[in-house]
Amino acid sequence: MNVVVLLGAPGAGKGTQAPLLAARLGIPVVATGGLFRAAVRDGTPLGLEARRYMDAGQLVPDEIVVKLLLERLGRPDAAAGVILDGFPRTDVQAAALDRALADRGSAVSAAVLVDVPAEELIRRMSGRWICRAAGHPYHEVFSPPRQAGVCDLDGSELYQRADDQPATIRARMDQQLGALGQVIEHYRASGVLRVVNGLQEIDAVAAAVDAALADAGVTAAG
Ligand code: ADP
Ligand code: ADP
Repeated sequence: MNVVVLLGAPGAGKGTQAPLLAARLGIPVVATGGLFRAAVRDGTPLGLEARRYMDAGQLVPDEIVVKLLLERLGRPDAAAGVILDGFPRTDVQAAALDRALADRGSAVSAAVLVDVPAEELIRRMSGRWICRAAGHPYHEVFSPPRQAGVCDLDGSELYQRADDQPATIRARMDQQLGALGQVIEHYRASGVLRVVNGLQEIDAVAAAVDAALADAGVTAAG
């Protein structure tokens, strides 16, 4: 069972790389941000709760995120493995994931940090558009869709996230980068951390992710 964690600051390119990697490895992407946006859109109690934090650029409390993630991991399509995009984001979440996987005789196979400098993150988030159906990200300058306003992958409409405006972008950087540092240290300590240079073309980042996974022993079969 391959459990691949994609790590990176907001705007680093996790959501861009995750579906590319999912196609190569043949396992699904689980993106907690996308799960929360779906809950907000559907107006569920979870969505109402999560929205308060998301709109303020804050992390949703660990207890809520861990419960949501463990439910998702229990679904049949996750049995062969999963690519985690946006989870874990705190060391508490990382420890909860380790425990849940250990219960199944498994563990995180690799944690790949997509490393991008802060100035670039702001440029990326402020031009981001994502699709309604699956959250596939585009950028108005760096990665435009083939047809304006339409997702290349599933044909759904593109929109700009409410939290991708300058004030919230700054709040996310201020509030989330410290916790990311702790998660990075968690995986460095367990030996599964791999760092790739995220400041390259999307295809070059994808190739670097592949090389990092090969180095960590992750293959499509495993
Ligand atoms: P980005 O693509 O900018 O990194 P995400 O779509 O992953 O953002 O997440 C959007 C928001 O959802 C976050 O700013 C946070 O409020 C919330 N969120 C997503 N995943 C988590 C998590 N693992 N822990 C806490 N909050 C989360
Ligand atoms: P994350 O999921 O880590 O928050 P995204 O994958 O949504 O990041 O990427 C943030 C923005 O940057 C999107 O608009 C995306 O199209 C763009 N982007 C992603 N990777 C690259 C790259 N390698 N070079 C330039 N822009 C990129």
